[in-house]
Amino acid sequence: MADTKKLFIKTYGCQMNVYDSERMAEAMGGAGYETTDTVDDADMILLNTCHIREKAAEKVYSELGRFKGLKAEKPDLKIGVAGCVAQAEGEEIMRRQPMVDLVVGPQAYHRLPEMEAKAQAGEKALDTDFPEEDKFEKLKRRPRAKRGPTAFLTVQEGCDKFCAFCVVPYTRGAEVSRPVDRILTEARDLVERGVREITLLGQNVNAYHGAGADGDWSLARLIWELDKVDGLERIRFTTSHPNDMMDDLIEAHGTCQKLMPYLHLPVQSGSDKILKRMNRNHDRDSYLKLIERIREARPDILLSGDFIVGFPEETEADFQDTMDLIEDVKYGQAFSFKYSTRPGTPAAERALVDDAEATDRLYRLQGLITQQQREIQDSMVGREVSVLFERAGRFEGQMMGKSEYLHAVHVADCKAEIGELAKVRIVESRTNSLAGKLI
Ligand code: SAM
Ligand code: SF4
Repeated sequence: MADTKKLFIKTYGCQMNVYDSERMAEAMGGAGYETTDTVDDADMILLNTCHIREKAAEKVYSELGRFKGLKAEKPDLKIGVAGCVAQAEGEEIMRRQPMVDLVVGPQAYHRLPEMEAKAQAGEKALDTDFPEEDKFEKLKRRPRAKRGPTAFLTVQEGCDKFCAFCVVPYTRGAEVSRPVDRILTEARDLVERGVREITLLGQNVNAYHGAGADGDWSLARLIWELDKVDGLERIRFTTSHPNDMMDDLIEAHGTCQKLMPYLHLPVQSGSDKILKRMNRNHDRDSYLKLIERIREARPDILLSGDFIVGFPEETEADFQDTMDLIEDVKYGQAFSFKYSTRPGTPAAERALVDDAEATDRLYRLQGLITQQQREIQDSMVGREVSVLFERAGRFEGQMMGKSEYLHAVHVADCKAEIGELAKVRIVESRTNSLAGKLI
């Protein structure tokens, strides 16, 4: 048997990239590679990149610069760039960093083994197509090896919403949903390998409309089918768009036991003027009404969101509308970003908010979110939660897992095993986690 080669993958950006990196590693397994955590051992380095903000793309170029020395020492080392920067920049990457051997977009990575063979033959390999064939179909069935208790599963890709600030519709392409039976097969495979919790992924996961035996299925229907999979204990999904939060999905949050009480529902801004200019196609009021309905269905649901501050033409009054919305909703978690101009998007042509002002707004917003997060986390003390244990903690006998609300929970002197679900009483709220005792 030929020697196994080592593949080092570094993943940037969203959970969809984490999932893609796993699938690329599995595909390269068939080409004689196993993954390594040590870049110096690698025969191939693959950066799976994110293009959502300018900084994310620049990080990739500086990371590539750092591999120059390694490539000089090991001329046979192959360097590849995958993901959304690969899609957006294409050949430009090889022009700026000639040592890069292959560039593969997010819709073409099933062709990675052929591309690696081409690179081994001394040629440059570039593939940023949006091929007709479905990459998930071309990828082999996932391997049988045992794995951790949580997994991502991409069910939908791409986006047709064209928010004025966002590159996703250009880098990931049009919205496509995977067929129901393929998702169920993958989910059952994951459960056989030890997975207890699956997070369904999509750029707009609640717009899911995959083909089932009797026509297109909604995300809620898919969740109910996954609910029947023995051994699967928890289901989550991310990221949702407010406009695709359909009645059956809201209802499922109240009735499906395996669907966890956590929802990431980005709003981006609380100002109707800005929402319109962002092309979000919803307003502040409809978002707040939606939150009310979701809380009626599942009163204890923990809400999370995404916010952009300093979007072109955002005034202090617009920003205050966002702060008021946050005060109204009360988020248990949120991701907030300063607007970053993305060439090719409609907002890129517009006048920017003063950078110092935008930074100041970001800090104020993050201050408010941190306060809400803390209040919600502190309110867990004394409560009973269910924890899925994922790994050993830093201290002897300590185990770490996640509650149904996605809070990290540590338990000292813990008898529970990895993959076990157990009832835990929360005894202390710490900076970024909760401490609890097995009940
Ligand atoms: N589809 C999801 C939605 O509509 O909410 C999110 C997709 S995007 C990968 C994740 C987040 O990145 C967005 O919700 C937004 O807050 C942020 N984002 C996207 N483009 C951005 C930009 N140009 N500048 C700053 N933040 C941006
Ligand atoms: Fe980007 Fe908007 Fe699509 Fe989300 S809904 S991926 S923010 S274009």
